[in-house]
Amino acid sequence: MPNQFSIKTVFTETSGSLLTLTVAPTKIIRGAGVLQTAAAEINLLGIRPLIIAGNSTLAISQKCLQPVLAKQNWQMALASYGVNCCEASLQGLKKTAEEHQADVIIGFGGGKALDTAKLVAHELRLPVVTIPTSGATCAATTALSNVYSESGAFLYDVALSRCPDLLILDYDLIQTAPQRTLVAGIGDAIAKWYEASVSSGNSQQTLIISAVQQARVLRDILLQKSATALKKPGSKVWQEVIDATVLLAGVIGGLGGAQCRTVAAHAVHNGLTHISGHGSIHGEKVAYGILVQLRLEEMLQSNQLAASARQQLLKFYAEIGLPQNLKHLGLGNITLGDLQTAAEIALNPQSDIHRLPFKVVMEQLMAAMVSTTAPTDGRDVTNRVSTRGMSEEV
Ligand SMILES: [Zn+2]
Repeated sequence: MPNQFSIKTVFTETSGSLLTLTVAPTKIIRGAGVLQTAAAEINLLGIRPLIIAGNSTLAISQKCLQPVLAKQNWQMALASYGVNCCEASLQGLKKTAEEHQADVIIGFGGGKALDTAKLVAHELRLPVVTIPTSGATCAATTALSNVYSESGAFLYDVALSRCPDLLILDYDLIQTAPQRTLVAGIGDAIAKWYEASVSSGNSQQTLIISAVQQARVLRDILLQKSATALKKPGSKVWQEVIDATVLLAGVIGGLGGAQCRTVAAHAVHNGLTHISGHGSIHGEKVAYGILVQLRLEEMLQSNQLAASARQQLLKFYAEIGLPQNLKHLGLGNITLGDLQTAAEIALNPQSDIHRLPFKVVMEQLMAAMVSTTAPTDGRDVTNRVSTRGMSEEV
């Protein structure tokens, strides 16, 4: 059944502005096993940490952090955010933090744990440490939190006052995550180019030009290194891909500001979260959303560069295991009504899909959503190698 949460209340406008840039964490410690040596850095921020993790990572966080914190005379408390970064869990966690008299918040886990920890710290005006346990998102880096309903439907995002005070990127810890999380992270990170080049590719602003160019570099790194990295977890090339998904993707979002963040790929993701699309993770839905966006550019603008980019991505997705269509997302049997609900949410008046340089109506979006693997019509598709790089790069 589609989630019938009021469409009117979703999508609070992000208040990001280039007047207040939040580019990167104050400090990043990265390396294999660095968590064990991070106590002194955390100590600079507080001595009464509240550690926020998910139900499944709570025990791991205790096991990992206990030896680190035992070296200090700290009063540590642990709490789970539950299943989603939702308003109810945020209220509960703020209360827990206040009762514990926490002076620093530590987020430990995937994107939702980190988003929750950042938001609790933001609202209580406390410093925050992010410790990602997978390469699935850039949430450890950014000054942005996504808020979901209790059932996991995307509601809105919140622009935070600053990026995390400390990011601890421990490759050993990330290597314990299922491979699928990194594959999803690659999908989320590669979206930066396809979205930023559309929303901001013609910008004359120094920092936005720089962010779009970095997004292109990020895409190239991922296209070149992902397949090798996934075959060799823990290797140098694998670490480079982790740096790309966790760090570089986040810094691009910070440098480009709200204008440079998302277009149709994330709008489609947001729509899918409302139709029980919970069998797939964020970056998987976003990766599929890139194909939908390219298909729209192809169908509505006759954009042949978008057509060739889509064919290039389909090959790349097949190689590393990203979803190419609704069936791969576990949504192969959804009803027309479900598809319409997802499209309606994605086309909400506040949605970032309207950053596309042309108007999209529901029937067109639905058509694009069911034809992401369609062959190109063969006309003028001669530039299969360089995606959109030749004429659209700034
Ligand atoms: Zn994303």
